[in-house]
Amino acid sequence: MGLIVQKFGGTSVADCEKILAAARKAIRAQQDGDHVVMVVSAMGKNTDMLVDLAQQVSERPPAREMDMLLSTGEQVSVALMAMAVDALGHRAVSLTGAQIGIRTDSTHTKARILSISTDRVRDLLNEGNIVIAAGFQGIDENFDITTLGRGGSDTTAVALAAVLSADACEIFTDVDGVYTTDPRVLPEARRVSQISYDEMLELASLGAGVMHNRSIEFAKKFGVPIHVRSSMSDIPGSMILDGTESDDQPVCGAAITRDEARITLIGLPDVPGTSLVVFDAIAEQNVTVDMIVQNVGENSEADISFTVPRNELDVTLIAVNKVLPSLGENVRLTHSDDVSKVSVVGLGMARQHGVANRMFKALSDAMINIQMITTSEIKISVLVERAQAMDALRAVHRAFSLEKVTCNVVPTKERQPRTELNPADVATRLQKMEDLVINDVTMDDSQGRITIVGVRDEPGVAAHVFNQVAEAGIFVDMIVQSYDGQDGQASLSFTVPRNSFDVAEATSRELAKEFGCQAVTSNPCVAKLSVSGIGLRSHTGVAIRMFRCLAEIGVNVVMINTSEIRVNVVVDGDEGERALDALQNAFADALG
Ligand code: ASP
Ligand code: MG
Repeated sequence: MGLIVQKFGGTSVADCEKILAAARKAIRAQQDGDHVVMVVSAMGKNTDMLVDLAQQVSERPPAREMDMLLSTGEQVSVALMAMAVDALGHRAVSLTGAQIGIRTDSTHTKARILSISTDRVRDLLNEGNIVIAAGFQGIDENFDITTLGRGGSDTTAVALAAVLSADACEIFTDVDGVYTTDPRVLPEARRVSQISYDEMLELASLGAGVMHNRSIEFAKKFGVPIHVRSSMSDIPGSMILDGTESDDQPVCGAAITRDEARITLIGLPDVPGTSLVVFDAIAEQNVTVDMIVQNVGENSEADISFTVPRNELDVTLIAVNKVLPSLGENVRLTHSDDVSKVSVVGLGMARQHGVANRMFKALSDAMINIQMITTSEIKISVLVERAQAMDALRAVHRAFSLEKVTCNVVPTKERQPRTELNPADVATRLQKMEDLVINDVTMDDSQGRITIVGVRDEPGVAAHVFNQVAEAGIFVDMIVQSYDGQDGQASLSFTVPRNSFDVAEATSRELAKEFGCQAVTSNPCVAKLSVSGIGLRSHTGVAIRMFRCLAEIGVNVVMINTSEIRVNVVVDGDEGERALDALQNAFADALG
C-alpha cells in the first residue's frame, strides 16, 4: 500500500466548504488505495489575525507566547478537518505537532525540527484512519510549543513525507503550480510542468512565494518528490524533483525581490580577514546577507557590496558602523534602500555560454542600469533601482522567452518504488534532521580573473563587455559587479578559462578605453574554491566559516558569491592548494 502526504495551505481551508472539499480529496486518495496523511495550515488569514492580536497587546510579545498563540490556528483547522472526514463517513484522527512527536529545538517562532516519531501515525493509518497533522508546529524538550516560521506547514508536510517514506508529497495551494515568475506580477508567466530541487530552492529563496524554502531543502535531502497543485481545479500542476538539466533552455524562471537595500564599503584594506570582521558583526544581529560581492580594486584596496532586506538596513548599518573604525581610515560606506533584485535561475545555464550577456543586453536595451551583479552556477542576479525593477523583470522574462517555454527536467535517475525503511534507517534519517549538509569542497584552478575598475554607472557596459566576450566564444564563469554609490562607479570582475584569458583581457582593455573606465587589473591564475551543499543560505554561517578559515591561514579573498547550494570564493592561484586543504578541514564535520 502506498502512502501520500497531502498538504492544504490556508487558502485551501479558508472556509467550511473548502475544508469539506479538501476532506473529499483525501478520501478519494484513500479509496485509490493509499494511506493518506493530511497536513493542514491555519484557516485563511487566521495566523495574520493572531499576529495582529498579539501586536495590539504588546509591542514585543515574548516568542514563547507567540508560538503558544499561533499554533492554535492549526489546531482549529485539523479538528474541523477530522470532523469533515468523519461527516463524510470515513475515519480520521487529528494530531497536534506534540501528539505526533515533532521534536524541535527551542528557537521559538523559527524552530528547527530535530526528530519525528512515526509509530503513532503508522498505527492510526493501519487502523484505516486518515491522519490529519497540524502543520507549522512542534514541541521542544520542555514540552513547550514551538513553530517553524511563517509558511512552515510545507516543511511539516515534507518532513513527514520523508520520515514516512511517502511516495509523494502533494501541496494543495491557491496557485496551480510553479510559474516562470509570479503570475500576479507578470501575467505572461507560464506554469512549468517540472522543475528541479536546485532551481526551486533558488527561486524560493528569491521570494517566488510558492513554497517554504526549508521544505525544499528537506525534499532534496530525502528525495521526496513534491507535486504542487491547485486545490480548486484538477490541472496537473508542477512536479519538483531531482534533475540534472532542463531541456536546452538555459533559464527556467525569473524572480524579483522588491525590498532590498545595498551597502557598499569602499577602500577596505585588501588583506585577509576584512570581510570576516564585517560579516561577523552583521551575523551577530541575525541579519541574512545576500548578494555579497567583493572586488579587488586598485592600490591593494578592495570594496565589498552586499544586500540585506530593506527592513533590516538600520540594524545592519549600526553593526557595520561599529566595526568600521577597526578597518582603516580610508574606508567609506555608502548605502541605498531603493533597490530591487532581479534574478534568473536555470540548471541549463551551467553548460551554455552567452546566458549572462543575454540578460545584460535585455536590460541595456530597456535602458536599465545594473548596479550590482552576482552569478552562481545556476543563478544570475542583478540589483537595479526599485522604480525600474518591474521593467527589468519583464525584459528578462521576455529575453529568455519564458512566456513560451515549459521546462522539462530530465530526471537524474528512475524513481525507485519506495520501500519500508527499517527502524535503524529511520533513526539515522531523523538524527538532527536539519543539519547542514555539505556535499563537496572543491577547487577549480583553471581560470584567470579580469577586473574592470571604474565602470561608469549607466546602462550597457556589462552588456557590451560580455557580448564581446561571448562573441569571441569565451565561456565566462563567475561574474561580480560591485557598486560605488558615491562616485557612481562600479568594478566589474569575471573569471574565464586560462586559455581564453589573453583574448578576454585584451577585449576588456579595449572596452575599458572606449567606455572611459579607470583601469583593468587581472590575474591569469586564480583558484575558485567552492563549498556546495544544501541550505547554505539558511545556515548563514557557511560563508562566514569560509572567510574565517581563509583569514586564519592568511589567504586573501578577491571575489565571492553565494547561492542556496554553493558558496564560491576566488583567491590567488598560488594559494589554491593551501586554501582547499584548510577548507576541507574546516568543513570535515559537515561533509555528509
Ligand atoms: N499558518 C502558518 C502561516 O500562515 C503556517 C503555514 O501556513 O504554513 O504562516
Ligand atoms: Mg500559510
